[in-house]
Amino acid sequence: MHTSSRTPRPNSVDEQLTIADSLCEERGRRLTPIRRKVLELLLRHGRSLKAYELLDAMRAEHPGAAPPTVYRALDFLVDEGLIHRLDAVNAWTACHDAGGEPHDLLVVCTGCGAVAEVSDPAMSRQLAERVARTGFALATHEMEIRALCPQCQKKSSAHATEGSSHPHEH
Ligand SMILES: [Zn+2]
Ligand SMILES: [Zn+2]
Repeated sequence: MHTSSRTPRPNSVDEQLTIADSLCEERGRRLTPIRRKVLELLLRHGRSLKAYELLDAMRAEHPGAAPPTVYRALDFLVDEGLIHRLDAVNAWTACHDAGGEPHDLLVVCTGCGAVAEVSDPAMSRQLAERVARTGFALATHEMEIRALCPQCQKKSSAHATEGSSHPHEH
């Protein structure tokens, strides 16, 4: 199975920012400098960032950046589909395909916060129908799957070997 690398290509961050600019313009929304900066940080980082990591990164460039401003920028970016909120790791990640087909499945590594985006409309429809049969309606079309990325799988199996003298320790 091929999983695309999350390391940004040299031009991909600029490309994604240009896409974000034009998406917002089409919708009559404003990608203000602070919103754009938050998006840029997430795109450059290539994996998900927790709120405090994002605040630290913002303050490195804008020492006065206040948390509410950053949170409002995050809300805006989530609403516009430019970033994803990941409950599994309590973090945010840039959408690397904001201009493409809506993807429904976010595979989130609980070890390091890496994300793989998957689009499978047939499966999502089936799931939504199943949910509907219970009388519930899905609150979001994005679903998170908690998983371990290839690197973290290696780490955890190495760990399991080291810790083999304590097989029942939890
Ligand atoms: Zn996405
Ligand atoms: Zn990982």
